[in-house]
Amino acid sequence: MAVHYRTQAVVFKKEDRLDADRVFSAFTKDFGRVEVFGKAIRKITSKLKSNIDFFSFSEIEFIQGKNRKTLTDAVSIEKLDGKVHLVEKLEIAYNISNIIDCFIRGQEKDERIWGLIVDISRKLNNIHIVHNKELLYYYFLWNFMFVLGYGPEISNCAVCRQKLNPHSLYFSNKEGGVICKDCAATKKDGVKITPDVVKVLRLILEKDWDILSKLKVGIDSSRLLKEVSDNYCNYLLASNSNYQYSP
Ligand SMILES: [Zn+2]
Repeated sequence: MAVHYRTQAVVFKKEDRLDADRVFSAFTKDFGRVEVFGKAIRKITSKLKSNIDFFSFSEIEFIQGKNRKTLTDAVSIEKLDGKVHLVEKLEIAYNISNIIDCFIRGQEKDERIWGLIVDISRKLNNIHIVHNKELLYYYFLWNFMFVLGYGPEISNCAVCRQKLNPHSLYFSNKEGGVICKDCAATKKDGVKITPDVVKVLRLILEKDWDILSKLKVGIDSSRLLKEVSDNYCNYLLASNSNYQYSP
């Protein structure tokens, strides 16, 4: 008799297959990343259909077959609320999903990653009460980097450990954080960044969402935050073969 496994899950990817089937990629509380096969789940008569979806938080049950896991039950805990800002929510959810998909390749339980994914899915659901919606993605990204062991150094120069001068700050992917002007010149490395970007990074890593959600971030700082975040991610993906690089 097949063993039934039951766990909580957040779906970060879904792919349709033939015959109304669908494969869900989910991060689960007890098994880490899993791909679960939803047999005939796209049929109108499917009972499970409404209980598991992109970025939904559900309790799922599956059986482990020879080649795949097959979904046998799903109970919705929280869904991506489509009533407000659905397009923006989906865009943020897709960006977050892409990061999860690239950096988590194998089945491995991780309570800190699980906690972060549940936290972000709940924040995304309550997005109608915050102003800085796009910061949610960076909030996830940098805290996720921290959990993976790539948290950036932002207090002192990542090379010489000297206190940073707010007027000359550089971000180095290779050194894993902010470096001073002298080290940037010696290493011929680093992109000039502003104290505002470092402040946002600090608030993100302190998980101070109350302040972040009310913070006024200018266009230039937003652009710079995007550039630093994208470059850091791409650097890590390109330099580690365990990850799936998709530029
Ligand atoms: Zn330095």
